[in-house]
Amino acid sequence: MFKTHVAFGFLAGILSLHYLNPLNQIMFIALVLLGATLPDIDHPNSKLGSKFKFIGFLFEHRGFFHSFLVIPLISLAIYYFTHSYTYIMPLGIGYASHLVSDAVTKEGIMPLHPLTRLRVRGFVRTGGALEYIFFFGVLVFAVYRTISL
Ligand SMILES: [Zn+2]
Repeated sequence: MFKTHVAFGFLAGILSLHYLNPLNQIMFIALVLLGATLPDIDHPNSKLGSKFKFIGFLFEHRGFFHSFLVIPLISLAIYYFTHSYTYIMPLGIGYASHLVSDAVTKEGIMPLHPLTRLRVRGFVRTGGALEYIFFFGVLVFAVYRTISL
């Protein structure tokens, strides 16, 4: 779910602030959150995907856009347009956080699509009780980390 991806992305962002020490922490977190919402662009019913329905039409949901192989491609594209490394790390962290949190769901992801359709899956049902517990756990931890920054 959208809010779980945002919460998990926020946590990944807060934790990586500690190691990466970016110049602009607010922008860094904002880019992590953007990255965390990007993969569901392939889902016509998601917040982002409903605005880019043609992508959901062209690409299978949780296919190409839910592969770790997309991250270097997007990074190259960003570098090509911005000539800066500033955006690559936070967007990549957010993107990866989305894929990791989708990988623990029953539907899972194909982390190396389109090279192989090998699927990685967990036991969390999307929208189920466990996801809510996960969401609130991550939220509480993220808020705690933010306060202690
Ligand atoms: Zn997803």
